[in-house]
Amino acid sequence: MMRTLTLCGILIAVTSLQAAHYEISFDQATSTALVRVRLDSGTATDFHMPAWSPGDYRIVDFGKHVSAPRFTRLGTRVTSSHPSVNHWKADEPADMVEYRVSTQKSGIFSENFRMTSDEVFVHGPAVFGWFEGHQKEKQVLALTPYPGDSATVAIALPSTDQYTFTANNYDVLLDSPFAMGSKVRIAEFVVGGKRHQVSAFGPRSQGVPLNGFVEIGQRVATQCLDLFGELPYEKYVFLYDFGGGGGGLEHMNSARMAMWGDGSGAEDFIAHEFFHAFNVKRIRPKTLGPFDYSKPAVTGALWWLEGVTDYYAEVINVRAGYKTRESAMRSLSSELRAFNRDSDRLKVSADESSRRVWESNNSSGYGINYYTKGKIIGWILDLAIRGETGGKKSLDDVVRSLYAETKGDKPGFSETRIRELCVEIGGAALGPIYDDCVTRAVELPIATVLPKVGMVITDGVVNDNPSASSAIGKKWPKQIDALPGLISWEGRRPWQQLTTSS
Ligand SMILES: [Zn+2]
Repeated sequence: MMRTLTLCGILIAVTSLQAAHYEISFDQATSTALVRVRLDSGTATDFHMPAWSPGDYRIVDFGKHVSAPRFTRLGTRVTSSHPSVNHWKADEPADMVEYRVSTQKSGIFSENFRMTSDEVFVHGPAVFGWFEGHQKEKQVLALTPYPGDSATVAIALPSTDQYTFTANNYDVLLDSPFAMGSKVRIAEFVVGGKRHQVSAFGPRSQGVPLNGFVEIGQRVATQCLDLFGELPYEKYVFLYDFGGGGGGLEHMNSARMAMWGDGSGAEDFIAHEFFHAFNVKRIRPKTLGPFDYSKPAVTGALWWLEGVTDYYAEVINVRAGYKTRESAMRSLSSELRAFNRDSDRLKVSADESSRRVWESNNSSGYGINYYTKGKIIGWILDLAIRGETGGKKSLDDVVRSLYAETKGDKPGFSETRIRELCVEIGGAALGPIYDDCVTRAVELPIATVLPKVGMVITDGVVNDNPSASSAIGKKWPKQIDALPGLISWEGRRPWQQLTTSS
């Protein structure tokens, strides 16, 4: 037994030493980055670039921006072939590859690889490929400072020195975008004992004050801490790209968001991207992590991942004091009215829209926009659970249960799990409500849900029904007093000023 233990100890020690090293430097004259990927131990013949980027559900083929990979083993050149756009094959086992990758225009949601005279922004899939068989090893990222030695780096990865960072595996490396430059600014705050950074970069970042962004970050993180009971990272970075392209893209421990002007009114956007640290990056279907970057990851749950995240952006902003319950109701009602004018709502279900996004290739879904429909579905499911349980349970309970089942290294949820949890938590009535919302292309069942929570639609706006108490009271007498608060999102821990430093 002792001998086995000793051997195990040695094996563990050896395994933990193995790493894939990524060294990257930047050349403004050629608008390229030079990337060197070196294996500590072992060799590989196959090297790949991602076909797509998590969070942006369409094929991009990042391999097309890579030129002339050069494979070596122990410093000796190894010839190679290029079987397909994202795949290179060394003729003999290699332990290193070097390649140049060019700057690329932004995608729908994120900049990919951008370089100016004073900064770079790097989105992992645009630049970093992987040696087959070495994705699970520790990955070490070494940056050559750009544009000079005093460059500041905004990145979520833990560092071993100013320009060297480590990721537990390739998925984490790929999911840790960074901005580096002479004008990159960082402010810090702490919530729940966890370090948060607010970073500003991009062509229009100079002079934009960060205090407001620090406050939004504190309020939003505090509400998520209250909802989930924990913050699932050691450090989180808000990457604000002022004047940058694309929209916003979520990552495990950061989000990169394009900002215009001074970012006023961006609370919903920020809450949406931050909530993704839970919903999408931890709460996810099985196909969304660990990833297969070589082919589409099809799921019927994008309405949940994007739309319900958008619903929670509203909820969090009410709880955080940025908007009132009434203004959230008005904005949700307005989205419901717009949705009800779309004839495709009776042709394409939320589930189908999610699954077929890869065909439409525009990341809004197939016929129906799963952001909009998913947001309304989140609202209806929340109302339905509150109505069916007399206000004892809500969508919060579904979200928390999903989080408990998927966080850490656990696998993602099965495609039927959200329905099961809605029924478990909200009762049998939630089954058909879920089906009408998600799997069938029929009218959304809001009219059947509202009376149970004492609400009504008047002139297209959902609001409290002033005469609901008596009608509802006959069925649930004990709840009459609770009715005004039945769908209230308030009542959580009031926001407090927290430690700030910059
Ligand atoms: Zn999103």
